[in-house]
Amino acid sequence: MNALIFQRLSSLQSPVFSCRRVIIDSILVDKPKGVRIFMKKIILTGDRPTGRLHIGHYVGSLSERVKLQNTGAFDEIYFMIADAQALTDNADNPEKVRQNIMQVALDYLAVGIDPSKATIFIQSQVPALAELTVYYMNLVTVSRVQRNPTVKAEIQQKNFEASVPVGFFCYPISQAADITAFHATSVPVGEDQEPMLEQCREIVHKFNEVYGETLTMPEIYLSKNAARLRLPGLDGKAKMSKSLGNCIYLADDEKTVQQKVMSMYTDPTHLKVSDPGHIEGNTVFTYLDAFIKPDSFEKYWPEYKNLDELKAHYQRGGLGDVKIKKFLNKVLQEELRPIRERRAYWEERLPEVYEILKEGSAKAAAKAQQTLDEVKASMRIDYFTNDNLLK
Ligand code: ATP
Ligand code: MG
Repeated sequence: MNALIFQRLSSLQSPVFSCRRVIIDSILVDKPKGVRIFMKKIILTGDRPTGRLHIGHYVGSLSERVKLQNTGAFDEIYFMIADAQALTDNADNPEKVRQNIMQVALDYLAVGIDPSKATIFIQSQVPALAELTVYYMNLVTVSRVQRNPTVKAEIQQKNFEASVPVGFFCYPISQAADITAFHATSVPVGEDQEPMLEQCREIVHKFNEVYGETLTMPEIYLSKNAARLRLPGLDGKAKMSKSLGNCIYLADDEKTVQQKVMSMYTDPTHLKVSDPGHIEGNTVFTYLDAFIKPDSFEKYWPEYKNLDELKAHYQRGGLGDVKIKKFLNKVLQEELRPIRERRAYWEERLPEVYEILKEGSAKAAAKAQQTLDEVKASMRIDYFTNDNLLK
């Protein structure tokens, strides 16, 4: 089947500049002349190897990926360890990035990413991504990147001010290359990535408009649970983030998790147990919203039927933070225990993990090269294919 037809059709499916919060429901789409053909469903997403992964990654993206992976509804799945992107703000510390590649791979396998169903690869080992980035750069203005709220916030957070590296500034464009190189239709990420997807969709639209239909229009895939979109840090800061050191890591042992939970930010006005407490901005409750399971109360705190009852009691007063933290700790430990066990299993098998990364990177490189060839053909810079320069 002709890949270009898929892409043309997918770009017709939705308004160009809006990011729908859904995945494409059907793999059947209408061809303009009324003939129905199959459109491939492809996932691409990734993480920067700037540290081990944490429970923010887990709720925002990893657990959703594993769910999608196990539906069997996708034709191809790619998970990228974004070392080239990590270097854009860690150029002076490549060793940190190098060390964390294996850590991220272990976290992937620990949460249940299955290399027989998904391709795990390392970004820098896929050279076509850098080349695509160069061509896409011509389709984006400096002021457009400057308006990207995530880039703005990160420049401030990293104290870059006037010294922002060009590579860092352009990372949304390189991210568009990552997504489009695999003709991804679904990108499961946390909410901070929404502006990146928006930017990517604009690049796809522009490219297809200027050079002819070539690239596939991706859709963002966000968790339906609001607390999972942007999990706050232990300190109550806007986002749990490796770079801010306010994290519970997937690799933390049981005792460390417990200590971190007991030290969490709650409601600064809730001084005595009898004081009425606030739920909004109270990190302990946000984590409960993100992690609670239908049977959690029955198992660990049968005095309450559900989270609404617990919240109401806290708001009335008479409920201490320590009790809630102990409950949260039990809920979290239940979720993290199997992840920890799988991590220990793979830590004993590093040569196998190495092979998974090597094979995945080779597979990804071949796929991205195909897309680069299509892109160059559309731009008519495939000079030496079939003597094109002579035509
Ligand atoms: P860095 O500080 O190096 O940028 P990070 O912690 O922000 O690291 P990334 O590798 O940038 O992590 O993000 C990987 C994925 O995890 C993205 O899809 C991002 O949206 C998601 N994610 C990261 N932090 C959170 C969070 N606190 N809540 C929900 N999703 C998150
Ligand atoms: Mg980030």
